[in-house]
Amino acid sequence: MTLDRRSFLKLVGAGAGAAGLPLIGRAAELMPKSGKRVVVVGGGYGGTIAAKYIRMMDKNIEVVLVEKNDHFVSCPFSNLYIGGILPDLTELTIKFDKLASNHGVKVVQAEVTGIDAAGHTITTSKGTLKYDRLVVSPGIDFRIEEIEGYNDKTPELMPHAWKAGPQTSLLRKQLVDMKDGGTVVLSVPLGPFRCPPGPYERTSMIAHYLKTHKPKSKIIVVDANPDIVSKGGLFKKGWKKYYEGIIDYRPAKKVTAIDAGKMNVLIEGIEEVHGDVINLIPPQRAAKIAQVAGLVGDDKKWCPVNQATFESTLHKDIHVIGDSSIAGAMPKSGYSANSEAKICATNIVALMNGREIVGLSGINTCYSYITDKEAVSVAAVYALQEGKIAGVKGAGGVSPDLSAAEAVYAKSWLKNILTEMST
Ligand SMILES: Cc1cc2nc3c(=O)[nH]c(=O)nc-3n(C[C@H](O)[C@H](O)[C@H](O)COP(=O)(O)OP(=O)(O)OC[C@H]3O[C@@H](n4cnc5c(N)ncnc54)[C@H](O)[C@@H]3O)c2cc1C
Repeated sequence: MTLDRRSFLKLVGAGAGAAGLPLIGRAAELMPKSGKRVVVVGGGYGGTIAAKYIRMMDKNIEVVLVEKNDHFVSCPFSNLYIGGILPDLTELTIKFDKLASNHGVKVVQAEVTGIDAAGHTITTSKGTLKYDRLVVSPGIDFRIEEIEGYNDKTPELMPHAWKAGPQTSLLRKQLVDMKDGGTVVLSVPLGPFRCPPGPYERTSMIAHYLKTHKPKSKIIVVDANPDIVSKGGLFKKGWKKYYEGIIDYRPAKKVTAIDAGKMNVLIEGIEEVHGDVINLIPPQRAAKIAQVAGLVGDDKKWCPVNQATFESTLHKDIHVIGDSSIAGAMPKSGYSANSEAKICATNIVALMNGREIVGLSGINTCYSYITDKEAVSVAAVYALQEGKIAGVKGAGGVSPDLSAAEAVYAKSWLKNILTEMST
């Protein structure tokens, strides 16, 4: 599909429009004068930072950010909205206009539907676009075929709320509408999944809401993993202190089927658990576009990359960062995606200018709220060891206890990272 110039100009973001530069159409004649273009797929935690940092490091490289939505809603802190601590998602929502006006990133709102690695071209809902290097940071999708009875309509009944936005609001509404004395079921998939501590923070936030507003209710957590995946000791301590009798945690229980009519989940196809509200988080894989583009490895789930440059080991000149990638010991988190984006951007600029690539130094901290006032955290530093990203021994660790100070640090982290992504 190609687009005439006038329609195209209406569709592209401010940066492209202001420069009068059509980005999509007959791709060959649209390459920038410098001859260097990086296209970034996905305007979330990884993509915004990769786009911005490439422009900050080399203004001769044209950067086009292609994102299907006109805004991005942060998953970090979305559990606080579900728990009734945040009034809405406003604080978690960013726009892309300043990436255009401050850095000259050309923002195109379109869905990327295909990648031609050999031809160095992407296909989008609004036309085709050529690239020299491509950064892919599209997040996750779900392995719904592993849950019998699950179909495209299931999230409307049993929301996952694992991509922030309408799903988050739906889960919040279902909790508000639930009668006091109701049962919430939360199912945790087998790892690896987006945000290892996320399901347990969500459990805490739902328990907080139930304790505060519906004290006769409870939450059953059906976890496919043998134990809490991250910060287990701290979560268990917090749950004992604040939510005794509200949280019923059941490890090593994998949901294999659902009965939508009865609002039941089935464990290993036999044991039925009923919920008035069911927060079903399915097992995960790299987002669809990574699958379609042949970027996933033999496991059919995640994208193998050179862990120094994040260049795909399957397709040259395509870099995969964030949740979709296999980033060694780094967890699938927003902070990891941010770190990976900066390393990837630095090395893309080096490679496009014939310079040596730099060694990786990555960081991650994940905060989790246990109550409305207290949080916990886990932090780690990462470096490349024999070609693989590994945790640096002696760096990082978990917070000593639940504390109000951690909750303050968490708020500051969110403010900083969202500001960095949107200015
Ligand atoms: C409940 C919850 C709580 C969390 N809390 C934390 C936390 O406290 N700290 C932390 O560090 N991390 C946290 N995370 C994890 C964090 O949200 C993810 O790890 C992070 O968003 C990954 O970044 P990404 O760039 O890979 O994907 P995303 O941030 O999801 O960005 C992907 C973007 O790509 C776009 N996209 C996808 N496909 C296409 C396409 N074909 N065409 C165009 N655009 C496309 C999407 O619309 C989206 O905007 C949490 C996650 C959840 C679910």
